[in-house]
Amino acid sequence: MKRFEDLSPSLRCIMTPGPVEVDPRVLRAMSFPVLGQFDPEFTSIMNETMGMLRELFATSNQWAYPVDGTSRSGIEAAMVSLIAPGDRVLIPIYGRFGHLLHEIAERCGAEVHTMEKTWGSVFDKEEIIAEMRRVKPDVVAMVHGETSTGRLQPLEGIGQACREMDALLIVDAVATIGGVPVETDAWQLDAVIGGTQKCLSVPSGMAPITYNKRAEEKLLSRKRVERGLRTGDDGADDIAVVRSNYFDLGMLQDYWSPLRLNHHTEMTSMLYALREGLRLVLEEGLEARFARHRLHERALVAGLEAMGLEQYGDPGCKMPMVTCVAIPDGVDGESVRTMLLDSFGIEIASSFGPLKGKIWRIGTMGFSCRGNNVLRVLGALEAALLRHGCRLPAGLGVQAALDVYEQA
Ligand SMILES: *Cc1c(COP(=O)(O)O)cnc(C)c1O
Repeated sequence: MKRFEDLSPSLRCIMTPGPVEVDPRVLRAMSFPVLGQFDPEFTSIMNETMGMLRELFATSNQWAYPVDGTSRSGIEAAMVSLIAPGDRVLIPIYGRFGHLLHEIAERCGAEVHTMEKTWGSVFDKEEIIAEMRRVKPDVVAMVHGETSTGRLQPLEGIGQACREMDALLIVDAVATIGGVPVETDAWQLDAVIGGTQKCLSVPSGMAPITYNKRAEEKLLSRKRVERGLRTGDDGADDIAVVRSNYFDLGMLQDYWSPLRLNHHTEMTSMLYALREGLRLVLEEGLEARFARHRLHERALVAGLEAMGLEQYGDPGCKMPMVTCVAIPDGVDGESVRTMLLDSFGIEIASSFGPLKGKIWRIGTMGFSCRGNNVLRVLGALEAALLRHGCRLPAGLGVQAALDVYEQA
């Protein structure tokens, strides 16, 4: 019989826009004993996690809990629960993940209207509001931080316009939650989806979401209790029932409420991980965490500039936790990435679609967002570029980053 070796994954320095390095405290939490999903000890862990998620999302919403699955599952749950077939949905697109929202809305049977911005920039809120006046959408869905292009879309004012026009606003904050402010209540966002493997530094596998009363009202109007669980006449069949069972937020919230109505089996070990990740975020403090992301961005950018590398995209709307670098002419970007991984144990990202082969994306997210990682990636990138025949002023990148740290 074939024998398999013990697992021994390499210790990597992960500088991508996710997944990123996981704090050892989170890894430890994942190794604790499993509890039953109705055990009071476990349901109290669920309640604590909901409390911490409300702080993370800056909301007083009753509903803030994780959907089990990767971040995309949270997006899909919000969209399939809040978009009824035939609903008009407006999607402003400025990168790959906006296209994902389009794709999902289409599968929900929506009448989808899109508007597109050249990759590397974001929308002016007035452009979006003018299009909303024209389309009269039931739902607006958009991305807060586009990891594909490294841009951050300001959301202030859009939520208010949605209220005035009686539309729901769904926001993909997968890459921004825990890295820059996401003000669910102040910006009047109706449903927000976060991610674990980005700025929270928890492995991929859960999608924290929150939604308010307006959203709840709509999804409850489409709710049908599962056949095997019905007790009375809660099985109305003449509604535009949510077309997914797994992602029906109306049923999921029954499990996260004191009712504890059975749905799927909760992912115990992932919930331990999320709870520990959230504890780490709140111990650090949201403001301190945002400041840390900005500091390491500054050091990284100073280093890249000193090396003479060009950044991609409009600097006015750059995400602090994703830095996009134009691959220098004549350099094989994939060969540089391979050398970084094989010789230095460092992973950086390439990009998608129209940017494939044109830029590298360097992430500074969560636990990966540290001074020693930034200095390592700058030193290694310089060495790899010199090795690939690039002419660089050797040594300046790391020094420029060190200057930023010394002045901080
Ligand atoms: C990473 C990411 C996603 C998708 O997350 P998965 O966990 O891979 O499903 C969606 N939106 C944005 C903006 C992201 O950065």
